[in-house]
Amino acid sequence: MGRMQSSAQTETAANSAPRVAAGKSCGTCTACCKITGVQALQKPHGVWCSHCAIGHGCKIYPQRPDECRDFYCGWLLNSHMGPELRPDRCHVVLIWVDDKRVLIAACDPDHPDAWRAPNVLGMLRQFAIRMAADWKVVVMVGTRKWLVTERAVLSEAGDAMPLVDLR
Ligand code: SF4
Ligand code: SF4
Repeated sequence: MGRMQSSAQTETAANSAPRVAAGKSCGTCTACCKITGVQALQKPHGVWCSHCAIGHGCKIYPQRPDECRDFYCGWLLNSHMGPELRPDRCHVVLIWVDDKRVLIAACDPDHPDAWRAPNVLGMLRQFAIRMAADWKVVVMVGTRKWLVTERAVLSEAGDAMPLVDLR
């Protein structure tokens, strides 16, 4: 099992750990151990953690940092996201950041266009449509960012890619 982080927009009861959706588990996924950063280990985004047995789990599981201990990716928490959207398969890890009210879709920099796949972008659009108005959906590939709204993807440069044809 990889890492997990808590979330507000999930089925989280107050003062309790986030609830993993029924039937969900990390299985052979270790995607967050590459795609996300770990401050305690000074591990940057997009590179494998030296403690990861890729496809198997954490080699220091009992001693892993709290950041890892407390991390639950969005796929684990969402019962509507199917197996094809498991992060090691779609190359995108969803991270709910409650205090900034943003859902980050962190994309593997070795698969920089993975977030544009219709099933991934369609899912992100659905989040943008359904989440509270003060939340944002932001795609990150390394240091590059895009904002996903109900109708468009907006780059930091202000370019817009319409989304209205996505179903
Ligand atoms: S990305 Fe999600 S499913 Fe994959 S190892 Fe991390 S927490 Fe588990
Ligand atoms: S310490 Fe373990 S759980 Fe944390 S990123 Fe490294 S391999 Fe993953």
